[in-house]
Amino acid sequence: MTKRLYDLDSHQTQTESKVLSCVPIGDLFDVVLDQTVFFPEGGGQPSDTGMLGEALVSHVREEDGEIYHRVDRPLAIGAVVSAQIDWARRFDLMQQHTGEHLLSFSFYDLFSASNVGFHLALDYATIDFDKPVSHEQILEAELLANRFVWKNLPVVATFYDSEEEVRALPLRKHAEGLTPPIRIVGVEGADLCTCCAPHCSKTGEIGSVFVADASSYKGGTRITFFCGERALKLHRAQHDDLDILARRFSCQREAVVGAVKKLSDDYGALKKSERELAKSLNGYMAQELRANAAQAGKYRVIAHLVSGVDAARLKDLAQVACAEKTLSLLLSECDGRLLYVLSTGAGFPLDVSELMPAVNAALSGKGGGRGTLAQGTSSTISGAQEALEQIKSYFVKRLSDQR
Ligand SMILES: [Zn+2]
Repeated sequence: MTKRLYDLDSHQTQTESKVLSCVPIGDLFDVVLDQTVFFPEGGGQPSDTGMLGEALVSHVREEDGEIYHRVDRPLAIGAVVSAQIDWARRFDLMQQHTGEHLLSFSFYDLFSASNVGFHLALDYATIDFDKPVSHEQILEAELLANRFVWKNLPVVATFYDSEEEVRALPLRKHAEGLTPPIRIVGVEGADLCTCCAPHCSKTGEIGSVFVADASSYKGGTRITFFCGERALKLHRAQHDDLDILARRFSCQREAVVGAVKKLSDDYGALKKSERELAKSLNGYMAQELRANAAQAGKYRVIAHLVSGVDAARLKDLAQVACAEKTLSLLLSECDGRLLYVLSTGAGFPLDVSELMPAVNAALSGKGGGRGTLAQGTSSTISGAQEALEQIKSYFVKRLSDQR
C-alpha cells in the first residue's frame, strides 16, 4: 500500500516515488506509487494536482484503500520519478479547510450549531449548520474563529488504532464507519474531530476567516466563507469597487452608503414628479388631440405620431384623449421601436379588435386587444407618418357610413 506522506507532513511538496503500476484509462493513465505527497480528494477537500516526472497529474483519488494518480502520459513501472504537488493550490485548500474546522468549532461551542455539510471548491467554500443562526451569531463565531487564528495554535493529526479509543475523545464530529487507524485532527485548546485531509500546521497560516454570506438552507443556515488569500482578494476587490464609487460621488469611502441611499431617494422622488408631470402634460396633449380630431359622420378620429413616449404614458394619453364617440390611434417612436395604441371612447360602435388587423398590417407590427383598448409594436419606424395618414383615411371612410 502506498505510503501517505501528506498524512505525516502537510507541508511536504516534493518526493521521489517509485512507479508500482500504470494502467491506461482512455487517453490517460492511472499510476500507483510506493509513496506519495499527493492527497486524494476526501473530507470535502479536492485532490492535489501537480507533476510526476514529465507527466501532468490532473486528479488523485482513493479507491479500496489504493491511491490512483491520473496522469497524461505513461510512466515505466519500476521507474523512480520526482513527485511535485501544486503547492499554491494545496495551501489555499488547507487554509480554507483548517478555517472550516475553526468556524465549525466556534459555532458549535457558542451556539450548539452542528456542521452537517461542508463544500470546498476552488473559488468558494460553504458550511451547512443544522439550525438557523443570526447575523449577530455569525459575527460572534467569526470573531472567535479569528481569535484562534491569532493565537497561532498547533494543528495536530493523530492516528488511533481502535474505535474505543476514539469514542473516549471529546470529539466535535465523529464520522461513522471508519476503519482504524482513525485520523483525528485537533487544534490545541479548540477543535477535535475525525478528518482525513491535510491541514495547516499552525492556525496562524489561515491568515483570516471571513464569512461573506448566509442563507436559509434545509431548516438551518448555509454560510459562505473565505480564508487566507481568498479573503484578502475578496476585500481588495470590494475595497477597489468602493473606491470607484467614492470617486464617482466625490466623497470618502465611509460616506458612499449614505450617498447611494440619497441618490436612490432622490431618484424615487424624481420619478414620482416625472409621472405627475407626464400626467398633466397628457391632459394638455389630449385637449389638443381632441380639438384636431377629424369628423367622420357621427364619429371623430384622432390619429397622431409622437416620439419618446413610452408604452405606459402612450396608453394613458390614448385613454385621456378618447372622448365620447371617438376613435384614437396614437403612435410613438420610442427606443428604436414604434409603439401604438388604438382606443375608443364611450358610445363608439365598434370593438377595437375589428380594426386592429388593418392597423397591424399598415404598420407591419404585431398587437392585439379587445373592447376599448388595443396595443401593438413594430420594428419598422420609417414611413410611420405616411402609414398613419393612410389608416386615418381608412377609418374616416369606414366611420362616415357607420350608423
Ligand atoms: Zn476536516
